[in-house]
Amino acid sequence: MDTVSGSGGGLRTVEEQLADVLTAVRPLATRAVALSEAAGATLRDPAVARGGIPDFDNSAMDGFAVRFEDVATASADSPVELTVVADLPAGSPDDPGLRPGEAIRIMTGAMVPTEADTIVPFEDTAGGLDESLTTARVVAAPARRGVFVRRAHDDIRPGDVVLGAGARLGARQLAALAAADIARVTVSERPRVVVVSTGSELVEPGVPRSRGQIPESNGLLLEALVREAGGVVVRRERVDDGGPGLRRVLDETTSGDARADVVITSGGVSAGAYEVVKTELGGALRFSRVSMQPGKPQAFGVLPAGTLVFGLPGNPVSAAVSFEVFVRPALLALQGRATLERPALRLPAAESWRTPPGRRQYLPAVIDRGDPARWFVRPATPGGSGSHLAGTLALAEAYAVVPAEITTVEPGDLVDVLLLGG
Ligand code: AMP
Ligand code: MG
Repeated sequence: MDTVSGSGGGLRTVEEQLADVLTAVRPLATRAVALSEAAGATLRDPAVARGGIPDFDNSAMDGFAVRFEDVATASADSPVELTVVADLPAGSPDDPGLRPGEAIRIMTGAMVPTEADTIVPFEDTAGGLDESLTTARVVAAPARRGVFVRRAHDDIRPGDVVLGAGARLGARQLAALAAADIARVTVSERPRVVVVSTGSELVEPGVPRSRGQIPESNGLLLEALVREAGGVVVRRERVDDGGPGLRRVLDETTSGDARADVVITSGGVSAGAYEVVKTELGGALRFSRVSMQPGKPQAFGVLPAGTLVFGLPGNPVSAAVSFEVFVRPALLALQGRATLERPALRLPAAESWRTPPGRRQYLPAVIDRGDPARWFVRPATPGGSGSHLAGTLALAEAYAVVPAEITTVEPGDLVDVLLLGG
């Protein structure tokens, strides 16, 4: 890798800007909900098992519950024949007695009777299922006492913390809590978010355009990203660069009981004329230049009622990266999420690309998985970066993060990669 040393020319670091943001975050209120309402929410109190997993000794196989002594010598040459005295389907409350020379037919998941200690699967009997209600002819001895018994509390004991505060409740997490007989959980409220796209050139996609107009895309981008991060977009607007639109949306959404927790604007924060966020919110937000590419111009502030306001740059790739770096961590912190950062993967570069000196690069990237044992990272856009390349952004599945002092990435250089979920 080629490197340069030296300053970012008075720019703030990503860490400084993110620290400002996270310092301002106050976690949202909590509420108790049924598991069926909790998908995607963040747990705010530890989830404590009410039942064990499993809750009782049960059979791991369809077969026979036996006493180990009775079958310890069984083999194909000298099978042991047991008389079947009862039948236990899964869910049966019965606890039939078992005397020497007897077996109980048992199905997977049924409670192991008190007097049995071992399960012989149908596969280890001569008759299998066919004669299973009369006779069990055992042709292979169990390896030891207790074989194919799933022990109570093997996985989780009652009182164990199944998941700690700050965990996201996805599919596997919800199923684990249900298995531990937890019916209700305390989760975070969802951040209520307003998304405002600024720009007099913007029209809805599909609408006939006049000269100089372009389709508005940041609104959809940011709404979907908010949802992926556990938030709810309560209002999405497009406003002109002149006029009172931005101020009006803010006034309507940042006071009163129904106020939004977060407002995200895009556009209007850089150094040109007609920068509506700068003009209208100049007093309320801090405008910074951050040593990253894309995403150098950033605005952030907290309104008196507590709403966090992010002024993101308008270029689509800049808006996407800025959301990833600053807004997503804030939305997760509002929900009390334990981990705010995506884990970085370190992958060799598949090709060479240039990166700006003095600024950390976040390059939309794809993963070359041709050899599953050896992944590579390459730019999503052939020919490098460009914050206006909204089309090829669709191909990106990751951001390659290249430190500020590096100016060229060479093939084989190891690069930090953030895999973007969802
Ligand atoms: P700005 O940050 O307002 O100077 O905008 C920078 C660039 O991003 C300009 O080319 C804008 O037309 C474009 N842009 C700004 N907002 C959006 C948006 N919501 N959707 C698509 N492009 C946008
Ligand atoms: Mg603009």
